[in-house]
Amino acid sequence: MKIRCPVCREWTTWEENPYKPFCSKRCKLIDLGAWASEEYRVPGKKEEEEDEEQKEADE
Ligand SMILES: [Zn+2]
Repeated sequence: MKIRCPVCREWTTWEENPYKPFCSKRCKLIDLGAWASEEYRVPGKKEEEEDEEQKEADE
């Protein structure tokens, strides 16, 4: 079965492919990296805001 890598659009095979649905480890990491950076952006910003609130409460 032939599939298309969702990252680079190259044709690859589903069988015997440890990185499916990606064509390579590189593409898998690119996809996971893009996903992870989206996840980190929001909580990181929220944490900063909470930090400032805490400082005000201490004083
Ligand atoms: Zn790829």
